Amino acid sequence: MADKIKIALYWGGTCGGCDVAVLDIDENILDVAAMADIVFWPIAMDFKVSDVEAMEDGEITCTIYNGVIRNTENLHMAKLLRQKSALMVAFGSCACFGGIPGLANVTDKKGIMEKVYRDTISTDNPDFVTPQPVIEVPEGTLTLPDLYDTVTCVDDHVDVDYFVPGCPPTTNLIMTFLGAVAAFVNEGTPLPPKGTVIASDKTLCDECPREKKEKMLTRIYRPHEIEIDREECILDQGVICLGPATRAGCEAKCINANMPCRGCMGPTAAVQDQGGSMLAALTSILNITDHEHELSEEDIFEIVSQVKDPLGTFYRFSMPKSLLKRSVTEKSGGK
Ligand code: SF4
Ligand code: SF4
Ligand code: SF4
Repeated sequence: MADKIKIALYWGGTCGGCDVAVLDIDENILDVAAMADIVFWPIAMDFKVSDVEAMEDGEITCTIYNGVIRNTENLHMAKLLRQKSALMVAFGSCACFGGIPGLANVTDKKGIMEKVYRDTISTDNPDFVTPQPVIEVPEGTLTLPDLYDTVTCVDDHVDVDYFVPGCPPTTNLIMTFLGAVAAFVNEGTPLPPKGTVIASDKTLCDECPREKKEKMLTRIYRPHEIEIDREECILDQGVICLGPATRAGCEAKCINANMPCRGCMGPTAAVQDQGGSMLAALTSILNITDHEHELSEEDIFEIVSQVKDPLGTFYRFSMPKSLLKRSVTEKSGGK
């Protein structure tokens, strides 16, 4: 019988959905059990950090890291697991390009603390007591991870071999990746080139079955404002769908549910900035690009202001890896 590979799974700053996606692979879990021993998985099994520290460098075949680098513990674990692993994988939109937690880059540590511990209507905290990274109590010193001002991704700090995007990645992508690692370890089948994104190189539009007429738009609708036709391109119907700026490989999950794509697979290799790319596509079909000289600034503002929540629409999953990266804030006490 072939040797089992050793897998570690870790969640950084994250919702936990990527861990659940690994649990949720149905009968494929039997294939995983046959090919892999799980040697660290805080959400599901009682391993300790000291177990990882005691391992040889490179002993873990593959660490699957989901979530962002939000605090000092996330970074410490990313560095430790990198040291102990032959392969490091950024798993899920958060790990690959920031995901939903990356939207916190509109503020900083001070802003988060103020909002959560003082400025919400349900908070009664007149002395503005907040969690402290170090506190002395009679029993000794207690510590907590400290938040950074800016959300970053695991490859901003350590070498990452592969990227598996999606919020969360689909079972197909998970099994494709794990199968490739097992085939490499047991049969010597070459792995994809380092840095490969385990998904399609096409855009979602390239794989979308809907009829595209590439209409010019006069109005933008939010999904609840119209009844979306199930056959026609959603963008053609005036609802913003990020398919033109998003990597394929999710099996068009949202499109099949008659909802627009929000971009969780991130940009293709040809696109540097997913939000900028979608904004360019939108200005073109809103007839702004070719008529810019005929439109006043007010006209353009009026057209574009139909997009509610532009940041959350265009950069919902990719802000930390976008050209914007974060909004400018006064420097606070964080890092
Ligand atoms: S990619 Fe999505 S499912 Fe995975 S941790 Fe981030 S928010 Fe959760
Ligand atoms: S914009 Fe959306 S609905 Fe239209 S073709 Fe692309 S993915 Fe499909
Ligand atoms: S359709 Fe878009 S948002 Fe939905 S799963 Fe696919 S890439 Fe993600």
